[in-house]
Amino acid sequence: MSAPAERVSETSPAALNTTHSSELYERARTLLPGGVNSPVRAMRSIGRDPIFIDSAAGCELTDVDGNTYVDYVCSWGPMILGHADADVVSAVQAAAVRGTSYGAPTEAEVELAAAIAERIPSAELVRMTSSGTEAAMSAVRLARAATGRDKILKFAGAYHGFSDSLLVDAGSGVATLAVPGSPGVTAAAAADTIVVEWNDPDSLRAACERYEFAALLAEPAAANMGLVPPAPGFLELLRELADANGALLVFDEVITGFRVAPGGWQQVSGVTPDLTVIGKIVGGGLPAAAYAGSAELMNRIAPAGDVYQAGTLSGNPLAMAAGLATLAKLDATAYETLAATTTALAAGLRDAAAEHGVPVTVVEACGLLTVFFAAAAPENYSQARECDFEAHAAFCRALLAHGVYAPPSQYEAWFPSLAHDDQAVERTLTAATQAFAEVARSAS
Ligand SMILES: *Cc1c(COP(=O)(O)O)cnc(C)c1O
Repeated sequence: MSAPAERVSETSPAALNTTHSSELYERARTLLPGGVNSPVRAMRSIGRDPIFIDSAAGCELTDVDGNTYVDYVCSWGPMILGHADADVVSAVQAAAVRGTSYGAPTEAEVELAAAIAERIPSAELVRMTSSGTEAAMSAVRLARAATGRDKILKFAGAYHGFSDSLLVDAGSGVATLAVPGSPGVTAAAAADTIVVEWNDPDSLRAACERYEFAALLAEPAAANMGLVPPAPGFLELLRELADANGALLVFDEVITGFRVAPGGWQQVSGVTPDLTVIGKIVGGGLPAAAYAGSAELMNRIAPAGDVYQAGTLSGNPLAMAAGLATLAKLDATAYETLAATTTALAAGLRDAAAEHGVPVTVVEACGLLTVFFAAAAPENYSQARECDFEAHAAFCRALLAHGVYAPPSQYEAWFPSLAHDDQAVERTLTAATQAFAEVARSAS
């Protein structure tokens, strides 16, 4: 196997006591593959062992050794209100005492579907699932059924969960491991996935001329190769080419949905997809995701139609309660606050890097940002892969030692939450200034 691209050696003398975490990790590795239940948690890409978390509140994580961190992973996106938000916790508690799962319809899932449809106008009908993976996979199945075509187009470095046909050239943890898709994915499953470079109109046009697609699938702002927003006009071109091709346009808004605006990136861009995939925030930190679209399309889904998709825990009452409580708090003021926090954090990170002459580019959108260790903002996956991963890893390790838990991969975004107040941002920037100083010292 080739050397994982983002796996680097540990060089930092991080003064962090993680004795108990190390003990747990040792035991975990005897019971869980790699000691974790999702690869990027292992922190291999920054050359250290994972940190086991004991609890979290607001913007802060506490590990099993008693260290506290300002958290920017935020469960990889769901925790937009911060951890253990009082309203979410009490909604989940109230739901739990009434039974944790029935496998029968509930009022809460109707209310959450209404809350989604109200915010995302293209989402007339909604089908809940338990993970973004299932939702994306099912949206593709629906697109294939609706068009009678097999091929789908996705972008290099975009992540749509780990289903076979969508793992091809995926970002996020797949990219971190530098595995081309994954062993175990059949050539047949991969053959119907055509991959095109993000923000490359010519390749996109060429692919659309060559193939008849069931779906053009995109994160409307790519956020699993680091945050790489669409170039001006690129989403409009996608919409135009999907229509001309007879393909459905599917936006995977699992990250951007309810984060950049109530209606996600489709609201921000004004480009409306045929199907939308959402997840993360919609479950408020519990397992829920969904796919949605026009009544005409979604009525193809069983039992209204003939496209089968199901789930024992789909629409789980605890997850519905957490999602409803979360969306209820995301009003206009919340988005203003989140945007201001993101901007202050991004500006402060730029200043801190500049102070120590570390060439980074901070790319931001409301509620997320990426600190690229590159002189210019990447416009696609090839460029994102050219970042200085060693420096990024050293930065992340130093941040941890100074009490900031940033995503341990160049391909993941930081997620500030509504619980990140001015004091948290200040604490972060003080740590970042020290971390950039250490990166600069080790590079010289
Ligand atoms: C996280 C993510 C998924 C997969 O969601 P899971 O709940 O982890 O299965 C799909 N698409 C995007 C854009 C994501 O960021």
